[in-house]
Amino acid sequence: LSTTTPITATLFPGDGIGPEIADSVKQIFKTAQIPIEWEEHYVGTEVDPRTQSFLTWESLESVRRNKVGLKGPMATPIGKGHRSLNLTLRKELNLYANVRPCFSLPGYKTRYDGVDLVTIRENTEGEYSGLEHQVVRGVVESIKIITRQASLRVAEHAFQYAKAHGRERVSAIHKANIMQKTDGLFLKCCREVAEKYPEIKYEEVVIDNCCMMLVKNPALFDVLVMPNLYGDIISDLCAGLIGGLGLTPSCNIGEGGIALAEAVHGSAPDIAGKNMANPTALLLSAVTMLRHLELNEKADQIQNAVMNTIAEGKYRTVDLGGKSSTSDFTQAICDHL
Ligand code: NAD
Repeated sequence: LSTTTPITATLFPGDGIGPEIADSVKQIFKTAQIPIEWEEHYVGTEVDPRTQSFLTWESLESVRRNKVGLKGPMATPIGKGHRSLNLTLRKELNLYANVRPCFSLPGYKTRYDGVDLVTIRENTEGEYSGLEHQVVRGVVESIKIITRQASLRVAEHAFQYAKAHGRERVSAIHKANIMQKTDGLFLKCCREVAEKYPEIKYEEVVIDNCCMMLVKNPALFDVLVMPNLYGDIISDLCAGLIGGLGLTPSCNIGEGGIALAEAVHGSAPDIAGKNMANPTALLLSAVTMLRHLELNEKADQIQNAVMNTIAEGKYRTVDLGGKSSTSDFTQAICDHL
């Protein structure tokens, strides 16, 4: 893609601090002259019967049409008779892989410097298939589903990602020694895909050992691919290595090449409307969207401006121990651009 062709992307500013941090992303994108036109969609106030959710059919169509989007945090309205917003997006857009790059932000000290990992989580099945029931009183059952189709597709994404981003190694995380059939099938699929990418090293690591290795020395890993439940846990563990969910970007990959980037934190109702929110996670999520569009130069430019602003330490939001408002921090990033 040329950096001058305008691209339309869907933007869900979301709830709570969502609109404030989305404004910050828009301002920074404008300053960096990113050729993106945002198509904004808000969560509705009534349930749309076509989606059984507060997200309208038109909003979903917008993502399907544009194939790229950015999502702020959404607070699911309480009450019966509708689906959760995040579940609606995941199911309707078939968001099958969640990609979370975790890299240290220089100047924001955590236990390790130079963390640079990517977790890729299967997002549609495993223990999260929603198949739980009571067998008899006092005995319940939960069914873990692993399919060849979903495993091949997430493994394929992991290797493609590794190749496209110059990564050297993919580690499949599993517990196939105990879950021989389910995790066994997952591994079999990963091995099949690995054969197509001889230039990328492939290894298999048991989940418990993986946790121990990650906290001892995160540099032992590069790209990690895993089934749903393990991915849920490991991706938060990795976010913790770099300072927490407030700094961690993510991107969901869906059917037909859809990429929906999102910050992993919530709508932070305690600080909403106070110009205090940290836009870093949403902004770095927007950067993953740019990388998906192969606008790598622009992505680097923004990522460096964020890192330099935080490293300089003059402007930091309250959650990072500073005193800056969202708008001052945003302006500082624009100045670094
Ligand atoms: P939360 O992430 O909103 O807040 C937890 C704490 O982190 C709060 O103290 C908050 O102020 C702080 N925080 C979060 N993001 C921040 C940011 N960008 N800058 C500075 N501080 C930040 O979690 P919660 O309070 O459990 O959830 C609030 C709402 O968000 C709920 O309605 C929940 O359903 C929703 N939620 C949505 C998503 C999503 O859309 N992906 C994810 C998690 C929670």
